[in-house]
Amino acid sequence: MKRSKTTIAILTCVTAAVVFCSPSVMMGYTIFGFALGQSTSNYQRDHRVFCNFEDNAANNNSNPEAAFPGALGAKLALWKAAVAWNSQNGGNRAFESDWQGEANSGGNVNQNTSSSLEQSCGGGTLAFTENPDNSGWRIKYCEEWTWEDGPTVTGGRVDLQGVGAHEYGHAIGIGHSQGGNCNVGCSSRPTMCASICSNGVSERTINGDDRGAITDIYGSIPGNKPLITNVTGFSTVGSPITITGSNFAANVAVKFTANTTQDSGVIPGVVYGAMTTNGGTEVVVNIPFDALSGNVFVWQSGQGGLSNYWPLEIIEIAPTVSMIDPPCGQLRGGETVTVQGSNFSGSAEIFLDGQAISTTALTSTMLTGVTPEGSGPGTFVDVTVTQDAGSDTLPNAFEYKENEIAVELSGSLRAGTNLKIDVYGPANSRVAVAVGSPGEIKRLGFCFCIESPFPFVQRYGAGHNTGPTGHIQIVWSGIQGPVFTQWSVTGVIDPPASSNIQLPCESFSVLP
Ligand SMILES: [Zn+2]
Repeated sequence: MKRSKTTIAILTCVTAAVVFCSPSVMMGYTIFGFALGQSTSNYQRDHRVFCNFEDNAANNNSNPEAAFPGALGAKLALWKAAVAWNSQNGGNRAFESDWQGEANSGGNVNQNTSSSLEQSCGGGTLAFTENPDNSGWRIKYCEEWTWEDGPTVTGGRVDLQGVGAHEYGHAIGIGHSQGGNCNVGCSSRPTMCASICSNGVSERTINGDDRGAITDIYGSIPGNKPLITNVTGFSTVGSPITITGSNFAANVAVKFTANTTQDSGVIPGVVYGAMTTNGGTEVVVNIPFDALSGNVFVWQSGQGGLSNYWPLEIIEIAPTVSMIDPPCGQLRGGETVTVQGSNFSGSAEIFLDGQAISTTALTSTMLTGVTPEGSGPGTFVDVTVTQDAGSDTLPNAFEYKENEIAVELSGSLRAGTNLKIDVYGPANSRVAVAVGSPGEIKRLGFCFCIESPFPFVQRYGAGHNTGPTGHIQIVWSGIQGPVFTQWSVTGVIDPPASSNIQLPCESFSVLP
């Protein structure tokens, strides 16, 4: 049951950080005492949205805006919310937020993601910011409210953009405005007041007190801050774009939206080491394959930091798939394959037999993924690459082969707990497994590399069979110890129409 907004809605402070509940008071605004970095070793200006809001109204705005390419619904509202704090919106502050697009989960507390809590918060709380500090943040919206993605807000709904601007203020280091600042009409109140005015629309625009806070934390715009004044070019992946402006260093990075949470090292969607021309007023780069519609920055850690944001729509084209390497793999899956083709984008995903697999996009012509378990030996399955702009399929291009014979151990090796024994082999093989202390003994005509006694023997006479997927897991429950501290697992496997084969011998130590 949704609660209609009849009382003052509270914008909570922050969770999991007691120190932030007594922020220092500077004029009306308060600050937490940290700044989100923009360096190559701790980049925290990125943000993204996981669209899991329960209300249709929270994610149904389908009118695109040129300044926010690629974003609609909740994404558009919350991107605009963050941009309210950026340098171009009045005042003199060296702050830029960097839109990274749509996330596929709410992420951890340091992954700078906004999403629904998927439940009520109680206490009149609208939303909260978790763990804001210089290692990142996470924002959650409470579901007892009916969220509205705008642009207009009606009928007792609450404005995602306005509340988003407030919560993002916490994320970047600002506490609640204090003193008499908030005892004024909606249009004059700071965004960082502890409660919203009406439906929250007036919180979309920050005011003088909020500007004081962000300038206090991030400083005034330095004289050498790079400034983008235009971007031209045909914006398909791989095509060159020309960025013009001022204060570009001789050698800059150009940072695109790429839906990445990576905050150090080689970050996806960044073209490093681009040489500028015309006295630091122009740089030409090819749009990297993993760039998505969103924003682009000139990024130079050593000189002036991050430029102003510039919206850039990336026009994706459909992929083509030419081959998969290797073209076959074991029924058990878990093997890395490389798919080659062209026009792959950062949104590309490999599907094997219609099943999406974990995909890493390496370049516009190469993807890698890990095979899932197959349905049977000798099966040929389709290889498909799907991305935002289309998909392409190579029919019957990957063959599942019988498993190689293997025995693998997992689970706890502590006395009194369970050991899981996974046996892989051809489909429909019969299996016997023995566990004992290391050594060698012959039983049933087979060489078990185990001494007597046999505290655990699973005979194939008992009906163990690898089934159509060539895999069975046998659990040895209640490992006994410490009679022996070393154990071995082995056995025999009987592939169809063949003779018995010794399973490899795996040894392990029983933990005390
Ligand atoms: Zn708050």
